Amino acid sequence: MRPALLVLPVPCLASLLAAASLVSPCARAQTAGLAGVPVPANAPYKDAGLAPDKRVADLLSRMTIEEKATMLSGAGWMESAAIERLGIPAIKMADGPLGVRSWAGSSAITSGANSPLKVETTSFPSGVAMAATWDTELVEREGQAIGQEVKALGRDMILGPTVNINRVPLWGRNFEGYGEDPYLAGRLGVAYVKGVQSEGVIPSVKHFAANNEEFERHRIDAQIDERTLHEIYLPAFKATVQEGHAWSVMSAYNLLNGQHCAENKELLTDILKGEFGFKGFVISDWGSTYSTAATVNAGMDLEMPGGPPMVTWASTGQPQAAGNGMGWLTADKVLAEVKAGHITEATLNDNVGRILRVIFVSGMFDHPHTPGGEVDTPAQRAVARQGATEGIVLLKNTASLLPLDAGKIHSIAVIGPNAAVARTGGGGSSLVRPRYAISPLDGIRERAGKDVAVKYALGVGMEREDASLTTPEATARLLKEAVDVAAAADVAVVVVGRYPKLEGESFDVKTMDLPTGQDDLIEAVEKANPHTIVVINTGDPVTMTKWIEQTPALLDMWYGGQEGGNALAAILFGDANPSGKLPVSFPKKFEDSPAHGNYPGVNLKVNYAEGIYVGYRYFDTKNVEPLFPFGFGLSYTNFEYSDLKLTPFMNDDERTRSWTHFTMVSLKVKNIGTRDGSEVVQLYVHAGHSKIDRPAHELKGFQRVVLKAGETKMVEFSVDRAALSYWSPEKKDWVAEPGRFEIQIGASSRDIKLWASLKLPYTK
Ligand code: BGC
Repeated sequence: MRPALLVLPVPCLASLLAAASLVSPCARAQTAGLAGVPVPANAPYKDAGLAPDKRVADLLSRMTIEEKATMLSGAGWMESAAIERLGIPAIKMADGPLGVRSWAGSSAITSGANSPLKVETTSFPSGVAMAATWDTELVEREGQAIGQEVKALGRDMILGPTVNINRVPLWGRNFEGYGEDPYLAGRLGVAYVKGVQSEGVIPSVKHFAANNEEFERHRIDAQIDERTLHEIYLPAFKATVQEGHAWSVMSAYNLLNGQHCAENKELLTDILKGEFGFKGFVISDWGSTYSTAATVNAGMDLEMPGGPPMVTWASTGQPQAAGNGMGWLTADKVLAEVKAGHITEATLNDNVGRILRVIFVSGMFDHPHTPGGEVDTPAQRAVARQGATEGIVLLKNTASLLPLDAGKIHSIAVIGPNAAVARTGGGGSSLVRPRYAISPLDGIRERAGKDVAVKYALGVGMEREDASLTTPEATARLLKEAVDVAAAADVAVVVVGRYPKLEGESFDVKTMDLPTGQDDLIEAVEKANPHTIVVINTGDPVTMTKWIEQTPALLDMWYGGQEGGNALAAILFGDANPSGKLPVSFPKKFEDSPAHGNYPGVNLKVNYAEGIYVGYRYFDTKNVEPLFPFGFGLSYTNFEYSDLKLTPFMNDDERTRSWTHFTMVSLKVKNIGTRDGSEVVQLYVHAGHSKIDRPAHELKGFQRVVLKAGETKMVEFSVDRAALSYWSPEKKDWVAEPGRFEIQIGASSRDIKLWASLKLPYTK
């Protein structure tokens, strides 16, 4: 029998579902009644064939206001709230983005770094290493592999990709992101999102927005002008929303222009949901909320974490001391604000509707993910290995020391604090526990075979790792051992860098210099053996002034994930030809970095005074010579660029002056060496005629071209109005100024091989 309360006049129901600013007695009776209504087996929202928006509307109409309020905060550390009565599943999350970081059991209790319950999955190369591949197809496959692993563990969502821009070489999380350029970060972010979503898994593009330093990350207020925000810090998010159709975005910890990102209406509602047309839901970063009504009304849809784990976390007082905020979107608080008229039910419907929509669109409602699947499959490992290999950047190779000829050399000295330990990633929520990880030493030993003697020496103890190895006596002894081993070998490979305690989430890197003693080690080994190859194993640029002049060969392997050591060996021995290119400029010293002087901020405010001049936009416009420019990377072969042609296409309506215009750009690239190789061809736009301040040039296209020795390929780009535009704060829009633009084709931002001009006839 139907409960009596359900027999209510229809207008009352309508008024409840309309934007009720108060929960009237009538509405309360209604929602209470809804709770008792059995849900028919054939309720429209259960119909997988029905359009998602219709399913959402039907489901919302069956939900009580209490149920809706419950959905705005998590039920655990990594799970949203389930509404069992209606069959609404919890969204089960796992940390990312560099693989799946997950635990068996309740993650709140188990999430310690060394928890035995940590699940082992594929450790992919760091984001910056994947960015160095400039390989969107590969990043999409990485996203897909990660999506498969998430599903195999019975979870639904991966907390990644990270698309924040590398503004400062000291940001502790630079390794997670895709470098300094918004276009590159956008292309790779879109690829990652598409890959993850192709498996029906929800990505979360993070951290929206301007999370560019860890210093006081919960309290720091990024002061950024509108143009800079639109041109540098938002485009990667915009691309993942508009082209990747991302299902979720994570708001950042920091404040942006005076307001915490989680309650920043301009950011979440006006820009993300309005301007960009975002249809998914916004999730908070863990413990980043500070109000109830303001947060909900700003467009923040789901607060994390929630439930008992959040309460336990809060009870320690530690997160609050660090500046975290949490527990503001619990059902009781949200309902109180609804009752007080500070949150309308229309708003609540929008927040909850977005979460429900993703639950339907992703397929997780109709096809729940069950645990027990296979992870770290050979195919997934292959993606990790390809990424690690393609991401390695050859920065110097005088006298063609590389590749090594295993037939000619008899001994290799492998030296350094990053040589015998696989330092797979930086620290924090992205650090994956793999089943195995190949260190540089393992990889080199395996590849060198039994005819080449591989000798190892630590050389120097890693800063803050094992105190007994960093005493003055130990330092002198280790250095001597390394020098002896190096002097006795045909070549020396010195692997230096950092590890999670020195580079990771929640703190910034102390200095651009290598950790204590590592510069000395390089200098000493180089003196002992002129055939020394230096390998950098960090996520950020490092200073190299002390030794770079003398170094004959230099590679950056970033954090290469579980296959890093194999990838390095393949490059050293020439099984793979280096093809990585820097996704970030390497300043000679920190003082040369554009943000220097405006980092980490004063009185918890950091002024992005360099504006749009981030990375190469600064170095190339202000003529500051970097150590290595953006886009730079050598190969064991050489490439020749020729035949640049620009062909404009215009759909022109003179009368209305409305038009679509794009230019096809074509050129030829030839591998003129004797080895097969790949070249990343880069397209930059120079707006020399502009009346406003614009960078010397900006990346607007790139392609990775695979070329056999002697082979020539045609490369094509399409340049549209967006590629020519700047953000006008006056017009609140992108503007392309009529006139002549220069299209530049380069092998790096400072190695422009071909150029031609393109005429834009008039504005819109
Ligand atoms: C990090 C996020 C991460 C979340 C959950 C936060 O501290 O900033 O990137 O996804 O924790 O672990």
